Amino acid sequence: TAQYQDISRAKSAELFEQAKNYFPGGVNSPVRAFKSVYGTPLFIERGDKAHIWDADGNEFIDFCCSWGPLILGHNNEGIREAVAGQLDKGLSFGAPTRLENELADLILSNNTYIEKIRFVSSGTEAVMSAIRLARGYTKRDKIVKFEGCYHGHSDSLLVKAGSGLVTFGETSSAGVPKAFADETIVIALNDKAALEEVFRSFPDQIAAVIIEGIPANNGLLLQEQAYINFLREITRDNGSLLIFDEVITGFRLGFQGAAHYYGIRPDIITYGKIIGGGMPVGAYGASKEIMGNISPDGAVYQAGTLSGNPIAMTAGIATLKQLASPGFYEKQEETTRQFVQTLRAFIAENQYDVQIFTVGSIFWFAFTTQTSITRADEIDPQSMEKYKIMHRALLNQGIYFGPSGYEVGFISSAHTEEDLDITIQAIKNALSIVFE
Ligand code: PMP
Repeated sequence: TAQYQDISRAKSAELFEQAKNYFPGGVNSPVRAFKSVYGTPLFIERGDKAHIWDADGNEFIDFCCSWGPLILGHNNEGIREAVAGQLDKGLSFGAPTRLENELADLILSNNTYIEKIRFVSSGTEAVMSAIRLARGYTKRDKIVKFEGCYHGHSDSLLVKAGSGLVTFGETSSAGVPKAFADETIVIALNDKAALEEVFRSFPDQIAAVIIEGIPANNGLLLQEQAYINFLREITRDNGSLLIFDEVITGFRLGFQGAAHYYGIRPDIITYGKIIGGGMPVGAYGASKEIMGNISPDGAVYQAGTLSGNPIAMTAGIATLKQLASPGFYEKQEETTRQFVQTLRAFIAENQYDVQIFTVGSIFWFAFTTQTSITRADEIDPQSMEKYKIMHRALLNQGIYFGPSGYEVGFISSAHTEEDLDITIQAIKNALSIVFE
């Protein structure tokens, strides 16, 4: 099999050396350090449509898409022009603007699952605030999360499963007090018995259960409808709120996200990524009644100097307007379906032990023979070695995937048929190297 010559990373390596003097690990977010894949991280200079260019002048077709926000690709004309227009008027006022109304209206008038919303500046902040709201509303302290779901880095959520089926969590980061972990119970996905035991063990103590609408931060762990229905019922029966973290799935699976995908009504929904069009934005929404508990209307405090930032709102508005055009999501899903089908046919022909899981315009490669993976502990850590080989072979052919085998890929509306044909050929080549 043809091996590929490694791309030059000399400039990126030089910048990385400098960056190590400034930032822990040389980065401002850990996964960017390329610890799980081959070589030095690539420093990106610019992007246009589905393409990015690094400091050494290498060009890539990008499937990381800034980890999800760039559903319209890079340097989208509509977003660029709208943001440029707003730049003349000022960057931040710390006062209400009509732009916040406009983005909120675009979201709420197209989404039957929430009635009021509050804008914040990141997904982490959205989820942190949603948890506080759930605790304030229910006057209970404990929350339940699932192993394999990521909800940002607030203290309550940097918690992993303890030893028993249903026990208090253990902190997954130094610096998180044990007292916080004691309020967070972590159980496996797709395990009805564990959910039942949680509510039996902690009656009237669970404020909320939080789940990623479709878990997509630790592989793509597609859940069964029946399980999500059960989750909805058991939370309702026990007076606990169900929080859907739709930071990834919100506006990725249509305007109504995973809630509509399953046809269930969560009590609180969190958003991020796409609603900011590449600018820092997050949001959480719920019924009028639940949102009435947020300050200044209610007793749950939450605020932000840059919340509803005019530039970020403008980027979000320009994004959502384009997503609202008829057939947008159908087209993107069809493109993704064809991309995945072509690759699956090649994989079957060659009898390679690799699966592609997909929903909407999200895909994930898993090096396994299992045709269904619903829980984090079903992922074999050994398979990540194969991802590493594939990742390197792809970079060397001009294809940029996320720098970890646990990360999903995104197809944007800017990916052309030609981009995808080139990518399919590159993936075929990469897989033949992985399995040679
Ligand atoms: N929730 C989910 C589902 C996410 O995917 C992420 C980010 N990957 C977050 C929360 C945290 O968002 P942020 O990185 O913007 O703080």
